[in-house]
Amino acid sequence: MVLVYSDDEKNMLELIAKAKDVSKELDEKATAVVFDTDDESLAKKYIMHGADRVFMVKTGLNTFKGEEYTDAMEKILEETNEEVVIVGSTKNGKELASRLAAKLDTGCVIDCINLYVKDGKLTTERVVYSGNAIAVERFNSKPAVVTIPPKVFDPLPEDESRAGEVIKKEVKVDRYPSRIVDVKEMKTGEVNVEDAEIIVSCGRGFKKKEDIQLVEELAKVLRGTTGCSRPIAADLKWLSEDHWIGLSGHKVKPKLYIAVGISGQIQHIAGMRDSDVVVAINKDPEALIFKSADYGIVGDLYEVLPKLTNAVKEKMS
Ligand SMILES: Cc1cc2nc3c(=O)[nH]c(=O)nc-3n(C[C@H](O)[C@H](O)[C@H](O)COP(=O)(O)OP(=O)(O)OC[C@H]3O[C@@H](n4cnc5c(N)ncnc54)[C@H](O)[C@@H]3O)c2cc1C
Repeated sequence: MVLVYSDDEKNMLELIAKAKDVSKELDEKATAVVFDTDDESLAKKYIMHGADRVFMVKTGLNTFKGEEYTDAMEKILEETNEEVVIVGSTKNGKELASRLAAKLDTGCVIDCINLYVKDGKLTTERVVYSGNAIAVERFNSKPAVVTIPPKVFDPLPEDESRAGEVIKKEVKVDRYPSRIVDVKEMKTGEVNVEDAEIIVSCGRGFKKKEDIQLVEELAKVLRGTTGCSRPIAADLKWLSEDHWIGLSGHKVKPKLYIAVGISGQIQHIAGMRDSDVVVAINKDPEALIFKSADYGIVGDLYEVLPKLTNAVKEKMS
């Protein structure tokens, strides 16, 4: 069986889709776990998106606690003998997965970008060396514990006719001395590039801060969001870090990504490579970004951008 857990609902739907793939290969079922909620509509939603079973687990806790949730997962696994445990690569998920693997004395691969069965063994792929290589690893121990970041896989379409089991469980977890003293919501930033469907991103090809408005105008007419490469947010500080895309910034998956004055170094590509359509504007015909682009415009951004924005404006009106 393949057990799936994430504390992020959207991520959970993505993980269920992958769990479904893997469980088919292993001739097993995909089981989702939700903790400490009475909301059965959530369990039904997971079934409509591919889960064969949902465990609604009560631990008596009303918030995530690494040690206790690890205990709860361990107890579920004792009963169900799962072969694979897929956890969302959220902050809590990574803590849970690594604690669980350590307790069960089994392997754990964090931040997988792919997962499949090869020669009967669960095999994972993850990005290493700043995006320059992909590590392919195979599990020799069971259960295999992996984490998968948000937006790596697409959820399955909702199917209202799907049937599945909802099983309610109470799990007595050991209490640990650590306490949560306070929970503070993180302030949301100016923009949310991670959920944007259209992103127009700027790089060091821009000569001064004021020129960024050329990108903002195009983003506005396309009803999209402005993004940027690391130097624009981290070094020049022309835009806030919410805009920063790449390996050390945000990972995005828009329908359209327009990279303007961005060279296309691997660390930038790592954050936007899953975009549906990529358009690159760069004056250097040899720029690496063109290797990752579906459409390329070789030209000076100061000439191309105003023309492109006007053309889009005309088309939109
Ligand atoms: C550990 C690590 C993590 C990193 N994480 C990230 C990350 O998350 N995101 C990220 O973006 N980078 C990241 N980097 C930095 C990355 O390696 C690059 O340095 C960075 O992406 C380059 O940004 P850029 O493309 O804007 O600038 P440059 O590489 O300087 O490219 C500017 C481009 O603009 C073009 N250009 C110049 N003038 C014009 C013009 N008038 N018209 C059209 N084109 C023009 C040039 O031909 C050039 O291709 C990371 C680096 C490391 C080591």
